[in-house]
Amino acid sequence: MTESDSALAPAARYRQAQQWLVAQPALRAALTARLAALPARLPAALRPTRPIRLEYTLRGCAAGRAGPEAIRLNPVLLQENQAAFLDEVLPHEFAHCAVLQRVPGAPAHGAQWQRIMALLDVPARRCHGFDTRNARTRRLVRHPYRCGCGPLELTSIRHRRIQQGARYHCRRCGQALCPQP
Ligand SMILES: [Zn+2]
Ligand SMILES: [Zn+2]
Repeated sequence: MTESDSALAPAARYRQAQQWLVAQPALRAALTARLAALPARLPAALRPTRPIRLEYTLRGCAAGRAGPEAIRLNPVLLQENQAAFLDEVLPHEFAHCAVLQRVPGAPAHGAQWQRIMALLDVPARRCHGFDTRNARTRRLVRHPYRCGCGPLELTSIRHRRIQQGARYHCRRCGQALCPQP
């Protein structure tokens, strides 16, 4: 995604990623093929017994989420991290499906999951390191202020405290932070 895309509202960014994905049959085929090839790398006793659907409907900062029979992938993060989704995200969620089908109630990233990840030869990381700026669905509200150094933005927490009478001073110039109209 380009810099300007991050200015789009979350709903528009997800719509754009969905449209992009429709025009990527090769990528979708590669993801489907990768998913189909994973069970063969496991001993029969660890393989899922029921089919797994792939959906591209996840929003927010997570790359993927697994239920027993479905994997939901985040289309915005997929667009920005295609190789990592094939290499790591898809096997990670597939391993969750396998555990959920075989041992419902087992800890999500527990011993069984880790064993499957080792067999798939994928690092058993719990969290991705992707830049989630474009994937966030909740925007952080920032409030414009000014000090002697120039304009700055404050979080809602500080803004509310100032409205309630608290005074903050800039550490650099020493001036009180004033709200900008
Ligand atoms: Zn996980
Ligand atoms: Zn200042």
